Formats: sequence, C-alpha cells, structure tokens
Amino acid sequence: MVRVSRIQPGSIAEEIGLEPGTELLAINGRDLNDFLDWEFLGADDELVIDARLPNGEPIVYEIERPEGAPMGVELEPPSVRRCANRCEFCFVEGLPPGLRRNLYIRDDDYRLSFAYGNFATLSNLRERDVARILEYRLSPLYVSVHATNWEARRRLLNNPRVPDILAQLRTLVQGGIQFHAQMVVVPGLNDGAVLEESLGDLWAFGDACLSAAIVPVGLTQFSHLYTGRTMDEATASILVDTAERWGGRAMRERGHAWVYGSDELYLLAKRPLPDVEHYGEFAQIENGVGAVTRLLHAIRDGAPSLPRLTGRRIAVVTGTSLGNTYMPGILQHLSRATHAEFELIIVENSLFGATTTVAGLLPGADIRRALQGRSGFDFALIPAESINEHGFFLDDAPLSSVRADVPMPVYPSYDFLDVLQDVGDGSLSHAGAGEAQ
Ligand code: SF4
Repeated sequence: MVRVSRIQPGSIAEEIGLEPGTELLAINGRDLNDFLDWEFLGADDELVIDARLPNGEPIVYEIERPEGAPMGVELEPPSVRRCANRCEFCFVEGLPPGLRRNLYIRDDDYRLSFAYGNFATLSNLRERDVARILEYRLSPLYVSVHATNWEARRRLLNNPRVPDILAQLRTLVQGGIQFHAQMVVVPGLNDGAVLEESLGDLWAFGDACLSAAIVPVGLTQFSHLYTGRTMDEATASILVDTAERWGGRAMRERGHAWVYGSDELYLLAKRPLPDVEHYGEFAQIENGVGAVTRLLHAIRDGAPSLPRLTGRRIAVVTGTSLGNTYMPGILQHLSRATHAEFELIIVENSLFGATTTVAGLLPGADIRRALQGRSGFDFALIPAESINEHGFFLDDAPLSSVRADVPMPVYPSYDFLDVLQDVGDGSLSHAGAGEAQ
C-alpha cells in the first residue's frame, strides 16, 4: 500500500477525484508496496486502481489516459530500508548526540540508490528485491563495494552475514543492470592488495561498472566503533597513485578515467586535483568526486563577467579542508575580477571535531561565532551546503538566528558567482537563498 500526500492541480488524479490520504492498494491486479511499484506498474496507459478512501471505503478507479500524461500524484515518503551492517567508519555512528532524529537513520536502500543516487551496500537485499531490480531495470545503481574480497568486506561492514558482493553484482549485471561503485578505504583493511583485487574485479565487469571512486575513511571525534589506523598524507598519496594508475589504463583502453580519487583524498594527500576533463560527466560529484575542480572551473569561466564591486569588503567562511588549500587562490582570483576585498575566515568544526574538515558540515554555532564581533564587512558568504532545504544547519540552528546574531548580511553561496552576480545587480535581499521565510 502507498498513500497519496498531494494531488497536482489540473492533473488526471484531480480529474478523477483522488484525494490526499487515499491508500493505493493495487494497479491492474498487482499489489502496490512502495513508490517503485507505483511508478513502474503505473506506467501503463490503461489502469485499474484499487484504493481505499481516507474514510476507509474501498473504491476502484478505471483510467485511460493520454499516452505519457503524468498522473499528478505525490506519495507520502517511503519508509526507508535500514542498514544491517555496523561499519566501523559509519558516519551516523560518528554523529554527536542531540541532533535531529532523522540524521541518525542508517539507511541502506537499493530503491533510494536508484532513485536518488544514495550509495547502498546491498547487504540487506532479498531474493524478491533482486527480482524487482531486474524486472524494473533499476539501473544504474550506486553500490558501496568497499572490497570485493568477501572476508575483507565482512570485516569492513562488521557484519558476518554480509553476502558475496561479487555474486550479487554478477546476477545484476547478467540482468542488464549497470552500477557505480565506491570504496571507502580504511588503511590496513582494504587498501593495498585488497584494493587492487577490488579494482581488478570491478574492471572485469566491463561497461557494467560505470565508475569507481576511492574515498578516504572520514571520522569524527564521535566515531566510537573505529579501531583502524587514521588516514594520513602518505597513505592518501599511495591511494592517489593507485587511482591514477588505474585511471591511466582506463583512459588508454576505454577512453575515460573510470576510477576516481575523491576530492578529499587529493586534499589529504596534498596532491594537485585533476583538471575538468578528467572527470568526464562527473558521475560521482555528489560523492565528493570532482566538486572542487568543477568549482574552480566555474569560477575561472564565470569571474570575467562578474560585476565590479570596488570598495566592498566580503567575509568568506569555510572549513579547514578548502580553507587551507584552494580557497586563498579562489579569493585572489575573485578579487582581481571584482576589485572587492575578500577576507577568508577558516573555521574548525567544533561539533564533529577537527578531523571533519569539509565546509558543508559546519554547524550554525561555529559560523555564528566566526562572524560575531567582526566589523567592517559589507556581507559574509557561507557554504550553502551547510544548510538544509528548510534553512537549518546540522546543529538545528536556523539561518535566521545566525543572521540575527551577526553584524553583517549573510548569504549562503554554492560557487560565489551565484551571490556576487546578484549583489552587483542589486537583486539580493538580506533573507536570500537558503532560507524558508
Ligand atoms: S552501511 Fe555502514 S556506513 Fe552505511 S549506514 Fe550502514 S553501518 Fe553506516
């Protein structure tokens, strides 16, 4: 059963009188268990929908719709499939107490892997899930492989019952499914020979394995399960060598890099990031692969058309990772283009600890503290990724309260160009992007 949350105005659903709260039970005789069933079984143009009205009355809708016309039904969010593992490096296990409840959900859901690109380990996959993936052609999937060696993977996922990922992937690939893979690398556990074996196994899948990312283990001061070694510069550098060696082979034999080191890996290794061509279609940018290069590229392309902001003083808040590497160069570039004066404010993360260095995980309290008592700025730019769609930071501080507590306007920005262009046009309000009003 799936439940209707909203009906789009002017849609077929509105025309037939579907109401929010209605339970959709079956389409053309097949039970509806979740949004995937609704999407795929509902793709026919002739539909018989068994439903139950909000007052409990059963009802049947018979619909003949014009080819391809959307139904206009929005469903209540699915209940997420929970994770069966207990990875030492689990970010959820590394969260401090007291954050909002949904941050503590350890999801591992092949449906969200297909629908939103969330990585899933597939370790909770049942036979009927595999059958659905094949029937609905849920491709590509995003798979946390970590290691193809079964024993190493058992240890990494801290789960003695984890299935053989190679056998799972073979079944899926034989059924026409493609996938992107990631390997979160724990020094001493799945680097070295285990990583070589994993890359070799993934390479053997040919075009079915669309890309593979090498991601350094990321820990917070609360990662209480972790017993491994920390990822240091030397280990990260060896991993970059591995990524580049395999990437070189893939370029020669397949015409694209195929294996990518994450941005964090390059920054930890203090090695220069690859250029924009290396990343092709940026298949794993949501996984932190190529985002910095894309930012640098966007700024290089967009800076010449930015407006003159002569005499403006702009504070830029960021985390230690970019702050101590690429950000000074970015701001010099922007300063030359706009004639504005930028001051970089690098903030250490007090919520997760100093090992969490990315700007997108900065809590509101740290940003407030960094800007309070500072004067002489026309405005401040903060990382837009640190705020959710409702205008809240990870520590539940609303952007509005941070704004109220600091002496300059504050604008969340993804790439500087977004805000600087609007400032020049005079089209930016104090309560700009990133905040629900
Ligand atoms: S698969 Fe591992 S890292 Fe992901 S949620 Fe489960 S325990 Fe955490």
